[in-house]
Amino acid sequence: MLVIKGGQVLGVGIADVLIEDGAIAGVGSFDAPDAIDATGLVVLPGFVDTHRHLVHSPLRGAGADLTLNGYLTELSPRMSSLPARDVRAATLLGAVEALNAGVTTVLSWGHPGASTVEAEALAEAGIRALAGVAPDDARLLADSTGLIGIAVASWGPRLPLADNARDIATARSLGLLTTMHIGREGSVARLADAGLLGPDLHFVHGNGSSDDELKMLVDAGAGLTVTPTSELMMMSGAPVHGRFCDAGGAPALGVDVVLNSTADMFEQMRAALRLERLRGTDVAAGSLLRSASADGARAIGLGDVTGSLDVGKRADIVLLDGFGHLPPELIAGGIVATGGVADVRSVLVDGRVVKRDGVLVDHDLLALRAAVARVARRALA
Ligand SMILES: [Zn+2]
Repeated sequence: MLVIKGGQVLGVGIADVLIEDGAIAGVGSFDAPDAIDATGLVVLPGFVDTHRHLVHSPLRGAGADLTLNGYLTELSPRMSSLPARDVRAATLLGAVEALNAGVTTVLSWGHPGASTVEAEALAEAGIRALAGVAPDDARLLADSTGLIGIAVASWGPRLPLADNARDIATARSLGLLTTMHIGREGSVARLADAGLLGPDLHFVHGNGSSDDELKMLVDAGAGLTVTPTSELMMMSGAPVHGRFCDAGGAPALGVDVVLNSTADMFEQMRAALRLERLRGTDVAAGSLLRSASADGARAIGLGDVTGSLDVGKRADIVLLDGFGHLPPELIAGGIVATGGVADVRSVLVDGRVVKRDGVLVDHDLLALRAAVARVARRALA
């Protein structure tokens, strides 16, 4: 039993959060022998990053001038032949960077042929994750337990429709989510026409999707993740966060790649917010927190597990410094507009403290970066 004492619980006020067996057991007034003092800190659900290529973590910043085409033709192929030990080390680095930034759940888009070592690295990191793996690997790993679940990562509209149908059928036979990239207009309509859409599908980007197609996703209950920073930096077209909201959807957010984005969700929330302000939409800044938590969890089928501080959910929690001076109603907006990794004081995953008072408990980022330095040297040579 553990209690987070006296924090500003987002949406509640000053309160304690009681944790039992890794789950949130109550929000109110509690005492327990094991306590974390949250005086002056904001207590909020851990961030959910619903699309990240963790294996690219050693290449942070290397794609600042890369377009999507340049990425796909130049950098991505050089990463495709990584030995298993490098895939493992790179995935571990990415997962720990995520935890350090308060991301407690990540959907990791897998590296071809390396599903097992990736799942091992995610487990070693201590993060909650869906490992997005190839359909054949999903069969092998479908019974994964603990914090690591499996999703089928399908190449989507770049492949013939029959291949999409086969991937989705494999995932459905195993009771798993299918996740796929979409870009061009018509990609969603093609799947809809074939009767393949459903709430167990999760799409990423959708920059070229028409308003009608976004509505098709909403009607089908399918999830959509927008990765505003990588889409803008790679010139993929205008991110659809606002258009998906207009269609009645609740978009999720993802980092995608640290080639051109920071490793946290603050950047994604802020980019999405600023794009909406540019469109002339007076969306409340604080509402973007939902995209990076509850709506993200729901988009990848984990809405009953994480994404909020509701009693019964797993205790995936972030304690933020830097906002204790604000009246409660200004805190969520303040976090979205000005928050950053330096504010992430403590992080819990499944009730376990993985970052305490600004320091990672189980991992050393400096050592993890040193372990993959050769990956970057080789890929960028
Ligand atoms: Zn991607």
